[in-house]
Amino acid sequence: MLRIGCHLSSAKGFLAMGKEAVGIGANTFQFFTRNPRGGKAKALDTEDIAAYLAYAQEHGIAQILAHAPYTLNACAKDEGIRQFAYNTMRDDLERLEYIPDAMYNFHPGSHVKQGAEAGIAYIADMLDRIQEHGFHATILLETMAGKGTEIGRNFEELQAIIERVADSSRIGVCMDTCHVFDGGYDITSQLEQVLEEFESVLGLRRLKAMHLNDSMNLLGSHKDRHAKIGEGNIGLKTFEAIVTHPKLRELPFFLETPNDLAGYQKEIALLRQCAIIS
Ligand code: FE
Ligand code: FE
Ligand code: ZN
Repeated sequence: MLRIGCHLSSAKGFLAMGKEAVGIGANTFQFFTRNPRGGKAKALDTEDIAAYLAYAQEHGIAQILAHAPYTLNACAKDEGIRQFAYNTMRDDLERLEYIPDAMYNFHPGSHVKQGAEAGIAYIADMLDRIQEHGFHATILLETMAGKGTEIGRNFEELQAIIERVADSSRIGVCMDTCHVFDGGYDITSQLEQVLEEFESVLGLRRLKAMHLNDSMNLLGSHKDRHAKIGEGNIGLKTFEAIVTHPKLRELPFFLETPNDLAGYQKEIALLRQCAIIS
């Protein structure tokens, strides 16, 4: 059974997200741990979490994905900004201790003018400090489109971070289809080669989740504008190939397409249909 869901608003809490997910045919979901532009997280509601966990168990929701605010910059030049990234991530992971099978995804950051090497060192360093706390959640580095000075523009940069981390047993990668396509990986006509490259650089065992987004822009554009499934330059055929691929089909898939709930429901049904037919 395909494991698929979409990004949901966390404003009403975990139980509400669980119900929303089930309502649109999802069996997992993604949410922002707090306002995506940063800021304080809501007080932890343990009653809501307990109710959610019971509901999730009953309805087969598993391995939800928490997404860090995208403004975190673990490799900023300014120490205060780096410290803020650390504090936020630490707080997020402390809260995720209440959700046994959650994973945590973040954007590695932008090195601005320091160079990728310095950026990579800062990110690995932060992960080491985070991991001193022994949090259980698997932390995922997201593949990025390579806008500006984003780190994670290719598999090598992610591997450079992972290599530097003292204990990488709980570090993985979330592949965003729009980002890798915009980053120059031709998943539309060369999916096999891209996966081989991933395997040789990072190892497919690192791949723990995928963001399914079509792209408004062209291969290698380094832009990062998501399109609805089948309405961008990646196209439905590629998504069909991904969700049925023997090396990918067991992964949890998360839609981050420009949709309301009804739109997500349609895309989930469409991809489930693809998975059944093939
Ligand atoms: Fe993201
Ligand atoms: Fe993404
Ligand atoms: Zn994106």
